[in-house]
Amino acid sequence: MFDHGIDLERAEPESPPNLTPGDYSGAAHADDFARALAALSPQQRMVRLRREVPGRIVFAHGFGVEGQLLFHWICGQDLDIEVVTVDTGRLFPETYELWALTEARYGRRIRAIYPERVALEALVARDGIHGLYESKAARAACCDVRKGRPLDRALAGAAAWIAGLRADQTEMRRAGRLIGFDDARGLLKINPLYDWTRAAVLAEVTALEVPINALHARGFASIGCAPCTRAVGPGEPERNGRWWWEQGGSRECGLHVKR
Ligand code: SF4
Repeated sequence: MFDHGIDLERAEPESPPNLTPGDYSGAAHADDFARALAALSPQQRMVRLRREVPGRIVFAHGFGVEGQLLFHWICGQDLDIEVVTVDTGRLFPETYELWALTEARYGRRIRAIYPERVALEALVARDGIHGLYESKAARAACCDVRKGRPLDRALAGAAAWIAGLRADQTEMRRAGRLIGFDDARGLLKINPLYDWTRAAVLAEVTALEVPINALHARGFASIGCAPCTRAVGPGEPERNGRWWWEQGGSRECGLHVKR
């Protein structure tokens, strides 16, 4: 049993009877797969996913501490998993530094996905370069053009995507799952670190000497785009630093919100 801080309901790790590799690829068996993965370590979860789900598996890397740890394990186990990142064009310089450092350290290219040029030019022409501060609608439009649509493109045709969500990040994320079926995109979505705490992730990253963003040492907990991320104070929820000016905001860009 791997316990890294969150006591989620667990079940037997064995595969349910009468399922063979490939059976997990659709929505019908996502629940069975969740039960099969629950008691495994995050590394084992990704190995099992790769072994039992045919087709493309995409890890959407955002260079957070969770993502860096997942990338470390993907490289260490040489898993046949595509690694992509959405470059919104508004990331921190420190994030680009980490990106380059990570590629050099692991000897593996991380495929960059960019916003579609015509849509981006139209967005900036309409709302201005800082229009995202003007209204929730403008912010959502920016996230859609710079993040959502590029990620949709990266995931098109994939059988599964891997994300770095943890249950203890927000109430909304706690309501998520270790693995489920993304109906809108038509693929499995797995969060291998779903039941790990932030402290457990940081301890593992330190133990394995995984490189992380220099901004973490300056109080930035969850790091996204530069205009939309600030440092948080001691004890403040980690995602409070995202879109902090929005009252009652979900602290989500939309990538992980059920559509
Ligand atoms: Fe735009 Fe901010 Fe969303 Fe980045 S996080 S895509 S800058 S609104």
